[in-house]
Amino acid sequence: MALVLNEEQQMLKESAQGFLAEFAPVAELRKQRDAGSETGYGDKLWAQMANMGWAAILVPEAYGGLDFGHMGMGQIVEQSGRTLTASPLFATAVLGVTAINLAGSEDQKAELLGAIAAGEITTALAVDEKIHHAPTQISMTAVKQNGGYVLNGAKRFVADGSTADKLIVAARTAGEAGDAAGISLFVVDRNAAGVEVERTEMTDTRNYANINFHNVEVAETALLGEEGKGFKALSGTLDAGNVYLAAEMLGICQESFERTLQYLKERKQFGVLIGSFQALQHRAADWWSQVELCKSAVLKALQAMDEGDVKAPVLASVAKAKLCQVTELSTNEAIQMHGGIGMTDEYEIGFFIKRARPAQIMFGDNSYHTDRFALLCGY
Ligand SMILES: Cc1cc2nc3c(=O)[nH]c(=O)nc-3n(C[C@H](O)[C@H](O)[C@H](O)COP(=O)(O)OP(=O)(O)OC[C@H]3O[C@@H](n4cnc5c(N)ncnc54)[C@H](O)[C@@H]3O)c2cc1C
Repeated sequence: MALVLNEEQQMLKESAQGFLAEFAPVAELRKQRDAGSETGYGDKLWAQMANMGWAAILVPEAYGGLDFGHMGMGQIVEQSGRTLTASPLFATAVLGVTAINLAGSEDQKAELLGAIAAGEITTALAVDEKIHHAPTQISMTAVKQNGGYVLNGAKRFVADGSTADKLIVAARTAGEAGDAAGISLFVVDRNAAGVEVERTEMTDTRNYANINFHNVEVAETALLGEEGKGFKALSGTLDAGNVYLAAEMLGICQESFERTLQYLKERKQFGVLIGSFQALQHRAADWWSQVELCKSAVLKALQAMDEGDVKAPVLASVAKAKLCQVTELSTNEAIQMHGGIGMTDEYEIGFFIKRARPAQIMFGDNSYHTDRFALLCGY
């Protein structure tokens, strides 16, 4: 299938561009940061996004959603990369919806997906326990007891972990760290007894948390999917997460490139525009070519998810690895070509690198996904 947007997807992209530029531009991120916001975004923003149907885009129609698909949702997330917009869109409308869709029972889907689509609840995915992404290395335990489960362990860097209503937690019901088998998914109330949430400070000033679980008792109905067989759904959720992180980084690459190109056309040094120097022209040309390749990698991965292509996991790793590389290049070049002002807080260009680095590392960096690509392809 051709890597182009249809008319509806293009319209969604343009409406997202307009909305985010008006209600959540980079200036809004600065405002939230300076105010020490707990959520990292404005009070009304998520309600406005949900009103526009963005929380419902990946939710099937049977559960009150729009079922508009990944190609459409990818356009919104890409635009949010251009404006560095923080919101529950990723943790709830992408990760939460995907995990519940892949693993949930009919009852769970009806209850949770309907509430997400209506903008009534937010979610967070709690996977990693160490500083590096390693989804099979789960030590947190869930022990069957009194008809339910008791959860013990700790999770790190949970995006939206300090504000989400429901935590989707990967815990071990069998086996040991390193085994894919034996991992189960649970839906846990963030305010449940024994859940201790500590908000962490990150360079992107978004809301992440380290979460401790001390003898947290959940009912049997909290189990999402089959006991011990949660890794497949977890892996599918992480694939989606990585494709959307790649889409967001594509927005970061494009925006930082365009802002820098504009600067090269304005800034004079030695009496001439710095953009007239070949040294910078060659760097800009190489950068532009790399961003063009990224557009194809992201669209292909979004398309593969919509089509249920068996290669979707491979294409997710291709997109994430490529975007990690080019986002590193883009944000570094943006600062370097802006010279001294690129380093200052007063100027917006430096904000892009601060969101880019956590986005690159989350759910596996360039090395992780290059390695995963090789393993999945049988090298
Ligand atoms: C608030 C502030 C405080 C600072 N404090 C200090 C300080 O205490 N100490 C300090 O050492 N520096 C400081 N700096 C940085 C310093 O003032 C310069 O901004 C910095 O050295 C960048 O200079 P530049 O000439 O490379 O940048 P610019 O002149 O802005 O050039 C922009 C870009 O064009 C490139 N370029 C320029 N000319 C050419 C050319 N002829 N051919 C090819 N490429 C070219 C540059 O490499 C750069 O990437 C400060 C800057 C700011 C904004």
